[in-house]
Amino acid sequence: MVSDRFGRTINYLRISLTDKCNLRCVYCMPEDMTFRPKAELLQDDEIVRLVNIFAKLGFHKFRLTGGEPTLRMNVVDIIERIVKTEGVQTVAMTTNGLLLDKLAQPMADAGLQRVNVSIDTLDSDKFKKLTRWGTVDEVWDGIRAAEEAGIEVKLNAVVVRNYNDKQDAVDLARLTLKNEWQVRFIEMMPFGDVADFQQSGTVSQEELMATIGAELGELTAVNDGNLDGEAQLYKLAGAMGTVGFISSVTQPFCASCTRARLTADGRLRLCLLREKEVDLLTPMRAGATDAELAGTITEAIWWKPWGHILDEDVIPLNRGMSEIGG
Ligand code: SAM
Repeated sequence: MVSDRFGRTINYLRISLTDKCNLRCVYCMPEDMTFRPKAELLQDDEIVRLVNIFAKLGFHKFRLTGGEPTLRMNVVDIIERIVKTEGVQTVAMTTNGLLLDKLAQPMADAGLQRVNVSIDTLDSDKFKKLTRWGTVDEVWDGIRAAEEAGIEVKLNAVVVRNYNDKQDAVDLARLTLKNEWQVRFIEMMPFGDVADFQQSGTVSQEELMATIGAELGELTAVNDGNLDGEAQLYKLAGAMGTVGFISSVTQPFCASCTRARLTADGRLRLCLLREKEVDLLTPMRAGATDAELAGTITEAIWWKPWGHILDEDVIPLNRGMSEIGG
């Protein structure tokens, strides 16, 4: 088990399988984004080796992300190898859903338990405006395929002022009335080049709850007010599902953080919203033993920052969300 200097046990690793994506969401990356050469990214065996080391250190929850993780060559094989690693208890994925139509069943067969599918709006035109590429129908096909494959599905929506902060959010929340889904609204966070856009477009949980409540009625806290992962959970009257809010900007949940991130180029990112990273790829390729890498990871986790300091105007500039692995 590894802990940081604040006494938090860190046992959840989000692994970015690639920095590439088949969408260009306005809040995530520029349309002409350039990507890292393949040789600079963790190879399959390197990912599996690191998972094994993390699992021995007590990490048991793993989430595959990106970029778009389903674009990773051999993604099914990678999932299977992670699932089979001793100590690994859950393997989940965050995806835009576009390729789930084809991949959901093989990934389920490989042991993938959950997917969080990003869907910011149900409106095709707004979807295009937000994601630039892709269609909302493809996402729906993906969601259905995941459900048919027996994978637990949650829906994620990043809310952007003047894009999807009104009727779109209400329509997404309405889905929980007749579906057992958790629809989670994520406050937009600022990173690198697009920080100005992000900061001016962030919509707070408070504002969003008021918008949803005005149309669909009161949202009642569930789960005894405890966080489900990062989400505060609420229910609309008579709903089958829940509405979640991930409010990293206005209501940070750093005290309960159990996470670290492994970027596609093998850096251990200790806090999403802080620049501090530790390189694992270079020592691994220079011949470091598992014990040495475990030592580097343990030391890095010890120095994990408490959390973000956006209110002091400290914004992470070294990478955007797609390069970190959200
Ligand atoms: N491509 C996958 C997807 O679309 O879900 C996984 C990677 S994506 C970076 C992970 C999540 O981060 C998505 O839900 C996405 O909407 C969210 N995201 C991207 N940029 C963000 C930002 N600036 N603030 C908050 N969430 C963001």
